[in-house]
Amino acid sequence: MAEERVLDLPEDFETFPEARKKAFLSMKELKEQGRRIVGVFCTYTPWELIEAADAVAVNLCGIGDDNAQLGERDLPQNLCPLVKASYGGAANDRCPFFYFADMVLAETTCDGKKKMYELMGQLKHCHIMQLPPGRYGRGALEFWMKEVEDVRSDLEDFYGITITDDDIRRAIRLRNRERKAILDFYEIGKLKPTPITGYEINTVINANDFQFDLEEKIRYLENRTAELRQKYEEECKGKPSRPRILITGCPTQGVLDKVIKRVEELGADIVGFENCCGPREKKDPIDEELAETDPIRAISEKYLRVNCSVMSPNPGRLEAMQQMIEDYQVDGVVEVLLTACHTFAIESVSVRNFVKGLGIPYTSITTDYSPSDQAQIDTRLGAFIEML
Ligand code: SF4
Ligand code: SF4
Repeated sequence: MAEERVLDLPEDFETFPEARKKAFLSMKELKEQGRRIVGVFCTYTPWELIEAADAVAVNLCGIGDDNAQLGERDLPQNLCPLVKASYGGAANDRCPFFYFADMVLAETTCDGKKKMYELMGQLKHCHIMQLPPGRYGRGALEFWMKEVEDVRSDLEDFYGITITDDDIRRAIRLRNRERKAILDFYEIGKLKPTPITGYEINTVINANDFQFDLEEKIRYLENRTAELRQKYEEECKGKPSRPRILITGCPTQGVLDKVIKRVEELGADIVGFENCCGPREKKDPIDEELAETDPIRAISEKYLRVNCSVMSPNPGRLEAMQQMIEDYQVDGVVEVLLTACHTFAIESVSVRNFVKGLGIPYTSITTDYSPSDQAQIDTRLGAFIEML
């Protein structure tokens, strides 16, 4: 069995649940100040339109086994824990972000989510964007552009405002700067040996989703990136590296302690995330030149390029994975599959074959938010890391 170690985390390190709790208070203050608040779930969300409406976007993706169990009061037990926890928290007044949100902007991604949104729509105004089933289908872009335009109209009607093209262009420029700051922070993982744990990378990015002042968020990430580059030069450069892991698959914010932290406590370094908790869409800014003539097209093209398994086919994900394996000098890939996530589970066959074809060891962990399978996960991860 691999030797366990305690993670090297900064003294002021805040766990994701702690950061969320703190963010409840800032959300309450924003609400009292009369700010507009829009709840979101997914990487396909055109955040720029929310920004252009002078509204704050807040991530509603649910975590916590207690919330998932509450979700089961209405939803089937055999459903992805992320869907159950998101609904369970919202429907039982356990998610202050949902409580404070004026409306929800969601997309028809996987079956579980899109049917759950119908129930959520009975609790609060939910604008559901119809996502085309594939990025390459005939008329897919034109269809999606209409959906994006509809979001703009709904925000205008809902808030009684006008969103101009200039408002959207300004939002695009700001969000592109935010993307760059997040991407630079993620890319610290390319350094060998890495000066930061993957657990901290993932936690910082997830927690910063709750920093509602985007200029402050950008400043924080730029400073932390510079500090880590300096730490690498002064303390890490030239030292031996532990096995370097790339995480792929479903979003991991609900299993941070259960999987992400354990990989590192069991002896490897997580250097990159090829999932929605990683640089997936950050690497791909909105085309600002195109936005000068057609901001809606620029936004639509960008979000249709997101490499998620809900799209069929989805070849961009494998291309992105190969690039990350090379850029981050990866020794092994761990795919995290949330129970009953059919699209990622089926796509994992192609991922496994592709990664093994590159000569890189691969393993997958299927889990949910309950702590009951921790020992099995540890055994599996320990054996995989020992083999690297
Ligand atoms: S994994 Fe797919 S459905 Fe889930 S948040 Fe990411 S893009 Fe959206
Ligand atoms: S992890 Fe899979 S099943 Fe769960 S919400 Fe995302 S795409 Fe849907």
